[in-house]
Amino acid sequence: MAGERIAFRCSACGGATLGLLGGITRSADMLRVRCTCGESALDVKKKGNGGLHLSVPCVYCRDNHGFSLSLDAEREDNTVRLPCPFSNMDIAFIGNEESVTKELERTGEELMRVIRSFEGEELSDIQPSDADEGDVCDPAVYDTVNFLVRDLEAEGRLTCPCGEPKPELRFSDEGIQVFCTSCGASYTFYAKSGAMAESYLSLDSLELS
Ligand SMILES: [Zn+2]
Ligand SMILES: [Zn+2]
Ligand SMILES: [Zn+2]
Repeated sequence: MAGERIAFRCSACGGATLGLLGGITRSADMLRVRCTCGESALDVKKKGNGGLHLSVPCVYCRDNHGFSLSLDAEREDNTVRLPCPFSNMDIAFIGNEESVTKELERTGEELMRVIRSFEGEELSDIQPSDADEGDVCDPAVYDTVNFLVRDLEAEGRLTCPCGEPKPELRFSDEGIQVFCTSCGASYTFYAKSGAMAESYLSLDSLELS
């Protein structure tokens, strides 16, 4: 396994990246292979039972998928192919340099065919649209909710079962979640647009539960 390469295609730019898998089997517990564009990374974690857990960028879903892998499984032709669970397209490979390079060439052509069959020209034409995802991560929404939460906190109008709320914010599927880092209680702002977030500004107290 020492000289084995791990390869994937970046979910943001479509570029192929090759990393060395060997290190993780010897000393490190975790390995991150990042695309040169910086927008996506493949993570490998060592599990207790000696297996590996992989988080792999998917060029078709623009998201990462999780895979579990045993280190010493018998492998046909020594190449492991990891398929996207939704499109069933191979998105990552483990094997020697020659075999993973070949797989990347094959799947690169496959990708171009898929893009063309959608009459598209680039990656974004086949990926889930920006409409939903972009809004969730709208920085204006975050700023508005953050402003409101800090304001309520400063005035003692943010309450929590633990009595000492330490609120933090994170993006969730629905919008933005405020959670207490002391006790885990939370409140979700169902806001995906600046306007939706602003409708919360009239809130004069907030109770995490
Ligand atoms: Zn990239
Ligand atoms: Zn996928
Ligand atoms: Zn709390």
